[in-house]
Amino acid sequence: MPVPVDRSTTWPYEDGEPGTFSYARFSSPTVAEAELRVGELDGGEALLFASGAAACTAVFLALLSPGQVVALAEGAYYGTGRLLDELRRWGLEHVEFDQTGPPPPDADLVWLEAPSNPFLTMPDLTGAAAHSGIVVCDSTAATPRHVRPLEHGCDIALHSATKFLAGHDDALVGAVVCRHAATAERIRELRSRTGGIAAPDVAWLLLRGLETLEIRVARQSATAAAIAQRLGGHPAVETVRYPGFGALLSFDVADAEAARHVETATTLVANMTSLGGVRSRIEARARWEGERVPPGLLRLSIGLEDPDALWADLQQALDGAST
Ligand code: PLP
Repeated sequence: MPVPVDRSTTWPYEDGEPGTFSYARFSSPTVAEAELRVGELDGGEALLFASGAAACTAVFLALLSPGQVVALAEGAYYGTGRLLDELRRWGLEHVEFDQTGPPPPDADLVWLEAPSNPFLTMPDLTGAAAHSGIVVCDSTAATPRHVRPLEHGCDIALHSATKFLAGHDDALVGAVVCRHAATAERIRELRSRTGGIAAPDVAWLLLRGLETLEIRVARQSATAAAIAQRLGGHPAVETVRYPGFGALLSFDVADAEAARHVETATTLVANMTSLGGVRSRIEARARWEGERVPPGLLRLSIGLEDPDALWADLQQALDGAST
């Protein structure tokens, strides 16, 4: 049954003491309910944040100290690298590594991404989980339908729940799911102090989105697999990156000009950022990531539209790029 949204920010004490809920910066009923559901999906203890980036920030600040080193999967979400650039001012170092191989042995925290956005590489989860440091896997693009990092021995699974988990481009929210209760407690304490908890309305939207997660992602993945294959056969497409599951893919056309043409020539596929929504969208990533990505790289997130209609739209845009 649907749970109500509880927008209260404070609750009466019980017998003179704070009860389960006392002040909404610590926890609130709708957020706690959504945390239970997300925790079940990944098999751990979940904490919700005001965004995926807030969730990442909390992990770094709660579990690391100045002078410690993060090993970051190269080609992972560019925002995570930029966040770590910010945190360098506070003494946190980071190095990049190829996540298809072993992480640097002396890192204090290993950050994997399953699959990486927008390069779509998959980490060696079980290999990385044997690392002596804290092992985190951002599985935003995979979703728990395809990858459950804690089952491979990772300490933390992390989501920009803004994407597939909420699923409708109307809720900015992040989730950290911990294997160990002590890790969750440390992050919860940090969240209470820094104030990055998700809002109740957003938690409710997430709960609603989760009701259809399985069916959405199943359909989106099947369409994405078919589109990846068809893209591979188009003469304007040079490289297709698709890990074989999920609804995120990227492909390269000749150059920035061709990419610009394709992203602005589609009509069913929106030209906008983000991923994981019910509506397909495409964008040239160089606008955000600069030289880190090929100038002709287009990231495509597949939604729930008819697969043939999607392909017809992409095909006419690509035909225009090849002439
Ligand atoms: N992790 C990944 C893989 C992402 O793609 C994003 C956003 O695009 C984030 C984290 C950050 O999440 P949010 O935008 O919800 O802050």
